[in-house]
Amino acid sequence: MKDQYGRIIDYMRISITDRCNLRCRYCMPEGVELVPMKNILSYEEIEMVCQAAAKAGIRKFKITGGEPLVRLGCPELIGKIKKIPGVEQVTMTTNGVLLSKYLPELLKNGLDAVNISLDTLDRERYQAITGRDELFRVLESVDQAVDAGIPVKINSVLQKGMNEDEFLALARLTLEKKLDVRFIEMMPIGKGRECDGISNDDLLREIQKQYPGVCKDDRVHGNGPAVYYHIPGFIGSVGFISAIHGAFCSSCNRIRMTATGDLKPCLCYRDTV
Ligand code: SAM
Ligand code: SF4
Repeated sequence: MKDQYGRIIDYMRISITDRCNLRCRYCMPEGVELVPMKNILSYEEIEMVCQAAAKAGIRKFKITGGEPLVRLGCPELIGKIKKIPGVEQVTMTTNGVLLSKYLPELLKNGLDAVNISLDTLDRERYQAITGRDELFRVLESVDQAVDAGIPVKINSVLQKGMNEDEFLALARLTLEKKLDVRFIEMMPIGKGRECDGISNDDLLREIQKQYPGVCKDDRVHGNGPAVYYHIPGFIGSVGFISAIHGAFCSSCNRIRMTATGDLKPCLCYRDTV
């Protein structure tokens, strides 16, 4: 499928719920208004959209939210999408809180890869950023997903005065674990407008200072616009999704659907992670 700019669109990101079990300060803080349940697409409706999308040339689907794993039956939905003719890959973006619980079912239903959001390795900071004391569960999920052998990417959003000093500790997760860590620039969207992000250019410069041998990693790491670097001796790579300071719209390959069924082109961070 080609859009009006000649870009090939073969990747669809589907939000299956606007609900979440965390309250990240830059995304969905306490008191956020939720869509009435009657307006959320049923799984049957989502499956029908996926069937039509696959006929139109979509080959890869990303399941997201809100938090996709708070909606019961998510693994079965993934299994159904995987069986649609033409579908090559179904992946998920999750905050990881419920991932270890559902991982066996997700794998059984054919989940191909997972992105796990993790902004800090410090328990108190995690609670300050997400409003919940769930860091240990997320770390457990990361290890289990890596052990299961599927591709794992950690998504980290850095904020000034909150976790900006943790970029090296987060990058160092790639030293011994078979995963990639990607830094996503804070997008001034919704509550993100009230948070100060860090430029990925500055971050890369700091990483280069610390690890002068770091070099561009041109291997394919997924379907997104991240630019990857590899630190010699490390297992995984460090990626940068520079929604603010990097221009990647011309190579965009995706479309997204909200939990209420609105189809949108890729215009913001929600389509990049
Ligand atoms: N709940 C799941 C999770 O956290 O991975 C999936 C949905 S969440 C909206 C997807 C990603 O968007 C997360 O990695 C989150 O950090 C990121 N995100 C949310 N608000 C953002 C913002 N204003 N700027 C940049 N990234 C943001
Ligand atoms: Fe929930 Fe993900 Fe938003 Fe955090 S970033 S509030 S985990 S949807």
